[in-house]
Amino acid sequence: MSPRLSARGERTTLRSGAGRCAGCGRPLRHTFADLGMHPRSERLITTEQLDEMEPFFPLHIYVCDACWLVQRSPSAGTGEPDEEVAAAPPSEARIAHAHQYASQIVDRFALDARSFVIQAGSHNGYLLRNFVERDIHCLGIEAAPDLAAAAVEAGVPTLARPFREALAEELAASGRQADLLIANDVLPVADDLKDLLAGIERLLRPGGVAVLEFPDLLRLVEGNQFDIIDHRHTFYFSLTAARGVVERYGLRVFNAEELPAFGGTLRVHLCREADAAHPTDPAVARLIEREHEHGLTDLETYAGFEERVRSAKRQMLGFLIEAKQRGKHVVAYGDTGSGATLLNFCGVRTDFLDYAVDRSDQGYGKYTPGTRIPVVPLSRLRETRPDYVLILPRDRQDEIMSQHDYIRDWGGRFVVPIPGLRVYS
Ligand SMILES: [Zn+2]
Repeated sequence: MSPRLSARGERTTLRSGAGRCAGCGRPLRHTFADLGMHPRSERLITTEQLDEMEPFFPLHIYVCDACWLVQRSPSAGTGEPDEEVAAAPPSEARIAHAHQYASQIVDRFALDARSFVIQAGSHNGYLLRNFVERDIHCLGIEAAPDLAAAAVEAGVPTLARPFREALAEELAASGRQADLLIANDVLPVADDLKDLLAGIERLLRPGGVAVLEFPDLLRLVEGNQFDIIDHRHTFYFSLTAARGVVERYGLRVFNAEELPAFGGTLRVHLCREADAAHPTDPAVARLIEREHEHGLTDLETYAGFEERVRSAKRQMLGFLIEAKQRGKHVVAYGDTGSGATLLNFCGVRTDFLDYAVDRSDQGYGKYTPGTRIPVVPLSRLRETRPDYVLILPRDRQDEIMSQHDYIRDWGGRFVVPIPGLRVYS
């Protein structure tokens, strides 16, 4: 064991309250990243709340040294999610990804008018709409009532309920099992893996397939993407960890691929364990081997992450201090989500950033969580002509740069903080 790990071991011994791994039940003993105390990343502060206290919760992420599942401490508080802000519209990149995804998957599994597609966490139906357009029977399951209503309005049949094993039972009992079950970005935010995975298993028709997408832990580690980490996410999956977890609930990963989308995404295809219709593709073993080669089954890899996160913080602060000393005007693009973790971890407030803008208007007149930077309309960019625009939502950075390339007219430049700070001229 290296000195670093011994040092970390001492600290984690003190934190024996971390609890047990949600994947395999063994005690969690190793820190992956301790980002300190953070507010809920989606909760904007109103003017009335400015004089009030704001709840902060530990953002301490562990890695299980038995099944390699990276997870938040199950015993730490997280507060209640703010459903209002979580209902932000999908970005153009996500809509385009959904369109491409649907075409690929329809071809791959030869779906037609006799097929039945279910999506868990179907948002406002922006993905399922592509199946409806192809006359494929589908059903969305979405816990947020306003999103479910918007989906129905757009012609996508949707149940306004959370995806649970009990609901899967109900649907299966009424003969509504799926040929294709889509559960993108559902696994990382699951509060109960057993309930989710048992529900998926129950809802598959014989020969049916579940397709799951989630951020790729390998990309998170290598790309230093600590800004993904927040209280909305319970888990951060490698294929190695995902395969181990799904196998405990009667499912088998029969195919997997890495996609460049959103900074690195894993797409895994699941079927029932004994389903002979879907032999396991060699790509699964290949990707698992690749994760092993890149150190995802070695504690030392995880132990090195925190130092890289701190280095990114120093880089960002170094840039901001220098810019302010030169009298530069710096603003942020992005008011919640990934930006909140980054700004709070770095302690960047109005001492560095004059304001924040975002494409959705729900933040106007409010303040960023924790850091309390005023959120103003996008038009302020043209009015105040900032020298630097710090882009916080990494998955939208190309979209943001092309939509606002007019800042170059007055010599403005875009800055992207992760994986390492980069100024675009
Ligand atoms: Zn485990």
